[in-house]
Amino acid sequence: MRIEETDILIVGGGPAGLSTAGRLADGVKAIVVHQDKEIGWPVRTSGGSFKGDIDALGVPSEFYVIVNTAEIYSDNRRLELDMSSDPVVVLDVTKVYRWLAEQMNAELHCATKFLRVERDGDGFLSTLRTVGTGEWQVRSRYIVDASGWHMAVLDSLALKPKPERKGVGIEYEFPARNHRLTKAVLFFGKSIPSGYGWALPTADGSIRLGLGQIRPINTENPKDLMDRFLASGELERMGLPQPEDFHVNSGTLPSEPFEKDLVFGRVIRVGDTANFATPTLGEGIRICITHGRALGDALSEAVLQGRDKPLKRWEKSVTRELALKYKVGFWVNQGAAQYSPENWDASVDRMSRVPSEELLQFFKNEFPPKTILRRAWLVLKRRILRKFGRQTG
Ligand SMILES: Cc1cc2nc3c(=O)[nH]c(=O)nc-3n(C[C@H](O)[C@H](O)[C@H](O)COP(=O)(O)OP(=O)(O)OC[C@H]3O[C@@H](n4cnc5c(N)ncnc54)[C@H](O)[C@@H]3O)c2cc1C
Repeated sequence: MRIEETDILIVGGGPAGLSTAGRLADGVKAIVVHQDKEIGWPVRTSGGSFKGDIDALGVPSEFYVIVNTAEIYSDNRRLELDMSSDPVVVLDVTKVYRWLAEQMNAELHCATKFLRVERDGDGFLSTLRTVGTGEWQVRSRYIVDASGWHMAVLDSLALKPKPERKGVGIEYEFPARNHRLTKAVLFFGKSIPSGYGWALPTADGSIRLGLGQIRPINTENPKDLMDRFLASGELERMGLPQPEDFHVNSGTLPSEPFEKDLVFGRVIRVGDTANFATPTLGEGIRICITHGRALGDALSEAVLQGRDKPLKRWEKSVTRELALKYKVGFWVNQGAAQYSPENWDASVDRMSRVPSEELLQFFKNEFPPKTILRRAWLVLKRRILRKFGRQTG
């Protein structure tokens, strides 16, 4: 079998893998393998993000549409949210991912699936399969798992199991015709148990209507869930048109707590493989680009200086930034996944009492210390009550 030698093998050509490869220094040899035929297609995400963060990452403005207002619905409530303090953008995901790919300093192999890896001295020997040409191997010093929820490398090396708790989403994308959507819509309640739904305008004038649920809490087929929602009359209540001539996007992301171990010797995980998407809304693209780029810098240093310390430094800096706020976000996620329709009505009532800036921060999974303390107290109280109840019951 043909064997290629490289410094770094990156598995997965999503935003995390592409951004890592985009920051590799000259003199560092890297190969990216991506199982899909092309970058950015099919689309498996909605592309909602925040303008300030996306601009700071240098994403060209022609790749997104700006949304300044959101409407939030539960079964019996409606709230209008002014987002002009921190506008949302809806990315053209295909264009953004291809733009990231143009910046790569690596050899890209599409239609190439990573099959397995074995340890080989202080490096790795990976077996890959390319459509049309068959199996080949790569010998590398480092290996980056950027395969999203597949966790292909970690699973093959038995370092981490694939996620059990997952967010599964389905989206119908269709031309808006004479309905110009300028707002974002978020909805919660009986039509989407243990999850939420959304409608977003796109840069090319279409509408993306999606539903996401958490497995295994809800195991209903996403298409059945969507069909039921479309027949429920809820779309009309939200002033949205019925989809016609739609195509279907669908995707999966882990919905597990953030873990601090990102570097396992010379195996590194980044992106969804490392639970980078926010626990509140499952929004990961900007976070994958930010920390993927930083990983590219750390890997360049490691390869060029022949020492692994920069990788541990990267791990520490990501953990410092995400661990606490993702812990709080995950508590919120776990609580909300159990909400009844009545809980959602009460939740929208609570949202209406919070200043819009604070609510946006919450959706971004950014929590002021006051909120962290309040959440910690609620969790502690619940645990004490449960323990006390067990002892007396
Ligand atoms: C339904 C849904 C809606 C979402 N909406 C948003 C949103 O609005 N905004 C937002 O910011 N985030 C959103 N997210 C989350 C966001 O999509 C992820 O956080 C982000 O895509 C993670 O990037 P990644 O590069 O880590 O993984 P991925 O984007 O999953 O990319 C990994 C790639 O690796 C490839 N791969 C997997 N296994 C192998 C293998 N064995 N060999 C070769 N290649 C392999 C896959 O084909 C895949 O393309 C959403 C996710 C879902 C599922």
